[in-house]
Amino acid sequence: MLFEIQELERHPVDFKEEFAPGSLDLGDEARQTTVLKSAGRAQLVEEHHGKHQIIQDIRLKGDLSTRLELACARCLESVMLDVNRDFELLYRPQGSDAGREELSVTAAEAEVSYYQGEGLLLEDVLREQILLAVPLKAICKEDCKGLCPHCGKNLNNGQCSCEEPVEDPRWNALKEIRGKLEN
Ligand SMILES: [Zn+2]
Ligand SMILES: [Zn+2]
Repeated sequence: MLFEIQELERHPVDFKEEFAPGSLDLGDEARQTTVLKSAGRAQLVEEHHGKHQIIQDIRLKGDLSTRLELACARCLESVMLDVNRDFELLYRPQGSDAGREELSVTAAEAEVSYYQGEGLLLEDVLREQILLAVPLKAICKEDCKGLCPHCGKNLNNGQCSCEEPVEDPRWNALKEIRGKLEN
């Protein structure tokens, strides 16, 4: 869905959209597994710069909800993540940057991004908002044991038959002493 400047000049645009699972390309990081729902309103905000220049910003306020499938950073098993997010964003025309200090008060309060050309694509906004919700390292459970670095077995499903790591020689020395004491 494209919010067109031409239309926003006439009136705000309310939206209520659904996107089928997998319809937004989230890259390798995440997979959308349920319908993505989003609703809200787009509105034109005009900033006056000097006497003649008017910058047309798009203010977008709304929410989104969906469910993502991520890979556990330790064992690579899938991790489900529900995303429910409210957003209030301000998009300025690309190349109109007057510097942040010159933003009007309304503009300075919101997160500022940029749109190109005739308007703003809702899909682009949603993709960005979803990726912001994805943690840097998703973990399936707090005590996930991960994969064995030697054979690759998922250690949450039991110990593998790889040899235990080589013991610290200082422990061996202690064992020897203990052995002597016991004899
Ligand atoms: Zn895991
Ligand atoms: Zn192993």
